[in-house]
Amino acid sequence: MTDSNMMVLKKKPGFATVAIRAGQDPEKWNSAAVTPPIVTSATYKKPSPSKHNGYHYSRTGNPTRKTLEECLVALDGGSRAIAFGSGLAAVTAIVNLLQQGDHLLSSSDVYGGTMVRFSDSCTRSGIEVTYTDFTDIELVKAAVKDNTKIIWLETPTNPLMKVVDIAAVVEVARSHGNILVAVDNTFLTPYLQNPLDFGVDIVVYSMSKYINGHTDVIMGAVIVKDEELGKRFKFLQESMGGVPSAFDCYLVNRSLKTLALRMERHMTSALFIAKWLETHPKIIKVMHPGLPSHPQHELMMKQSRGHSGVFSFDHCGNLENSTKFLLALKVITLADSLGGVESLAGSPCVTSHVELTAAQRAELGITDSMVRVSIGLEDPEDLLADVKQALEVAF
Ligand SMILES: *Cc1c(COP(=O)(O)O)cnc(C)c1O
Repeated sequence: MTDSNMMVLKKKPGFATVAIRAGQDPEKWNSAAVTPPIVTSATYKKPSPSKHNGYHYSRTGNPTRKTLEECLVALDGGSRAIAFGSGLAAVTAIVNLLQQGDHLLSSSDVYGGTMVRFSDSCTRSGIEVTYTDFTDIELVKAAVKDNTKIIWLETPTNPLMKVVDIAAVVEVARSHGNILVAVDNTFLTPYLQNPLDFGVDIVVYSMSKYINGHTDVIMGAVIVKDEELGKRFKFLQESMGGVPSAFDCYLVNRSLKTLALRMERHMTSALFIAKWLETHPKIIKVMHPGLPSHPQHELMMKQSRGHSGVFSFDHCGNLENSTKFLLALKVITLADSLGGVESLAGSPCVTSHVELTAAQRAELGITDSMVRVSIGLEDPEDLLADVKQALEVAF
């Protein structure tokens, strides 16, 4: 479907239509292939020494990657999407916008790898970085400095599932003039949340998670609305060189076609299990933004169209009980990562947050008895039976 074909629709096409059709026009290929080809060529024949027909070298541009980027940009309502070889390569490109003397303000429980990149890049380049709890907007206001250039947030956060008010943070940034707001939207995907609609400048994804969703690709993307910023990221993609392969772009492009269906199922299955856990005598707390017991449940309902399959819970035991529980699981796999078709579980205190001291973990609220799960697409009854039997083994 071409963009002009989309115009015949009476209203804006829905998410699934865009995910399946945007950038996929068969007419753009000589073969009129309905499924976009995987173009593995590193280089392209030129019509003359000083000219090329749109592509000349695959780090700079590749037709399969372009197809994926066209679809991504349509899903988030931006002007440009730039794909990177991993989520962290995308994060690194954003950090690259900063220079010596600048200040980066970040929400406190961002992805561990992002924090590592911030501290390494910033320490070596003379960039200041500070973290604060973004669920309290007064703390955000107080933390902005004259040299703040980027405000960075994730919502919901990992593994505490705190929800940050995106519009309120954008307002703080605007009241100071020239501050860019970047949102890591990995957990919700464009199906459930569109940060650009709130005035956010940069959306970043680890597509290794829900967007690809099949646990077989590492990839990231940056999506922006502002054309100048888009040009800058395009330049960084080319000159830093962290581009994904054509084969991986094909896989992610294919995965986008089922994103709407997958997210719906992740959502209902995770809520089903979270609700059951809330009533279990050994469970103290379930951190899931879709539950009315969650402190920012209302805010989540307001700014997003749902929640993902990831949530955490605290039980009444210790790390040993967590270990017993995780080892007893038969359907759910004990593994890092999230967002795939397979359900995964792990213990944040010994994985994502192992680098922190016990006191730092305690301050954040990451206990030894916390388990994080990523509910996949298996039959929810089977997942529930698995959780049930593993809890019996653990206690
Ligand atoms: C996994 C993840 C990243 C890093 O992405 P990679 O693709 O692993 O490099 C960044 N942000 C969040 C929220 C993530 O979950």
